Amino acid sequence: MSRRIFLVLGFFSCFLHLAGASDRDASRDYESRPVNDAVKKSETPAKSDVVIRYLDKKVNGLSVAETPHFRILHDQDKKIVETVGKVAESSRVALQKKWFGDVSNDWDGKCSIYLHGSLKDYTGKTGQKNALGHMRTLDWAGMFARSIHVPALESNMATDVLPHEVCHSVMAARFQGKTPRWADEGMALLSESPVRILEFQLLLAKYHKEDALFSLEVLMNTKETEHMDTLEYYAQSLSLVKFLCDKKGNKEFTDFIRTCIQKGYEPALKESYGIQGYGDLERQWQEYAFRAKKKNNE
Ligand SMILES: [Zn+2]
Repeated sequence: MSRRIFLVLGFFSCFLHLAGASDRDASRDYESRPVNDAVKKSETPAKSDVVIRYLDKKVNGLSVAETPHFRILHDQDKKIVETVGKVAESSRVALQKKWFGDVSNDWDGKCSIYLHGSLKDYTGKTGQKNALGHMRTLDWAGMFARSIHVPALESNMATDVLPHEVCHSVMAARFQGKTPRWADEGMALLSESPVRILEFQLLLAKYHKEDALFSLEVLMNTKETEHMDTLEYYAQSLSLVKFLCDKKGNKEFTDFIRTCIQKGYEPALKESYGIQGYGDLERQWQEYAFRAKKKNNE
């Protein structure tokens, strides 16, 4: 397995142990995103039934294609654009069903997907040096405009990067941009391929052995980019989301996140899971994440 592991971030980028590179709310000058289009509420497309319209216009020199919920800006072959359209639409449906039990019409305008060619093109255009993709939400006087940027020619673009970023987009729409970062990244990582998820689980075990993990209270509350832009943060967020989902279910987890946003973590933990604060959560999660390994090593 390659030691190189790219992170696919929600709002900004990192790769391995990067420093900084956070610009969560910054806009990009090359990104002239129109505010919200009046999107006609459409029926959910079946996976193989995505209609892609190729528009007869260019935006910032890029061709434009549209699916019911996404606008794809690109200079790529139609085959790649079709793959992106299908994966984005099918991921949007699958993720909404997985995490909320239904497919919502609550989709605040088309989400733009910028297809950069190679990783070098992506890095050059976006300035994201340590990421393989990112999603950005811009607040236009209370109306959210979302855009996803991916290097179209990377081998795991359709299997890992795009589903990860579409998950961020789904959560941004559902929680009006208030998704806690650890939950956002944990759910997005769970949208990726089993191999990538396994990579992060192996990293978690490594960091645990090195005593390099965060306390869960820090993990859930930190706003520090030097915390959030690390593989430790991602690996641990994935595990915490999985722990809570395994306890009750995926929909119950997003209900919990809604309660967290309204009431704070400790009241929500008690109300949703009967967990008595951060200490109890830490104990239960440690047991879930590492008990089996300890037993095997004894
Ligand atoms: Zn992410």
